[in-house]
Amino acid sequence: MDSIIKHLVEITGHRDHDLLNISVISALCELTNAEYARVLDIATVGLQIFVQPQITIKDGKVVALAEHAVASKGGDVIGQYPALEEGVKQHLNLIEGRSDEGKRLIWLPIWVNEKLNTCLEIANPASYSDNTMQVMEGILIVYRNFQNLLDYSERDSLTGLLNRKTFDDNFSKILRTSSQQSSGLDPEDVQQDRRANEPEKQNWLAVLDIDHFKRVNDQFGHLYGDEVLILIANLLRSSFRPTDRLFRFGGEEFVILLRSTSQEDAQHIFDRFRENVEQYNFPQVGRVTVSIGFARIDTYEPAVAIMGRADQALYFAKSNGRNRTCYYDTLVISGDLHAEQSNDTAEFF
Ligand code: GH3
Ligand code: MG
Ligand code: MG
Repeated sequence: MDSIIKHLVEITGHRDHDLLNISVISALCELTNAEYARVLDIATVGLQIFVQPQITIKDGKVVALAEHAVASKGGDVIGQYPALEEGVKQHLNLIEGRSDEGKRLIWLPIWVNEKLNTCLEIANPASYSDNTMQVMEGILIVYRNFQNLLDYSERDSLTGLLNRKTFDDNFSKILRTSSQQSSGLDPEDVQQDRRANEPEKQNWLAVLDIDHFKRVNDQFGHLYGDEVLILIANLLRSSFRPTDRLFRFGGEEFVILLRSTSQEDAQHIFDRFRENVEQYNFPQVGRVTVSIGFARIDTYEPAVAIMGRADQALYFAKSNGRNRTCYYDTLVISGDLHAEQSNDTAEFF
């Protein structure tokens, strides 16, 4: 009993998804005397489900994430785990199966609102009585509730996008995982992975600000303003890949982290989004436009420097007609911006 309480204290003490995962699989591993336990990320891309091993606990220790990213090379199609596939189809909470080497496996899918993003796997459990099962179920309920709570604290309540605090807390980590996740959640991504070493594939940070948003509020009222924010967030979600990251930075400003793309493609993708907004018919309000500034992400630079450059490009777009997408480097090359210009434009919008 003491050990269960110890685990619960451990699990509920974390404010980070990775640490939460580590403590829950440690608890399950110890409880069942398993050979190892691991977290599997489950991603649905179109009609296909992919399984991507994340963190493994073996002999009480964490097996490095990187080793696994290499080992699994971008996730397996769920068909490679037939028992898991069948159990997921039936929406089960506990699935038994065997690995290729004949290890006994137990999968615990974590269903949240009918959706499956995570599954825990326990290999060769030694003790597995009814009592153990009940304790495991209890731990899983705590785990699921805590995941929900974490999700809630990371997101903006109006739009459901990630919030600014999440950006500030996790910028470097998000970058790391988004490059790991170029991991091939779809065949196109696998292609991208092969090209990942090409120097022109970079990550990009864009700052997007709605043009004359104050007028929307003034003319139609705050509720319609809020509706525009929600619809723009929906357009963002449907225009970018799940592996890109979308934030509402506060007010009518959004930040997009676009991964592993050439400069031409980044310009094209951001500008296509700008056009989509321009062409969208917002109920009652009609036409709304956005201005976008973006900059290349240098992984070794602090977020604030990169943000500063994207902000300067945005400021330029705002001062030169709005409804534009501007890239910082292009503006520097053309002489429209000076590289040493200070980062004090963020407050202007
Ligand atoms: P610009 O093209 O220069 O960006 O002009 P703007 O009017 O969009 O910029 P400004 O910064 O002057 O105004 C932003 C407005 O956004 C002011 C504020 O009332 C509104 N706003 C900020 N947060 C919210 C929100 O959560 N809901 C609504 N409805 N409006 C918001
Ligand atoms: Mg604005
Ligand atoms: Mg603004």
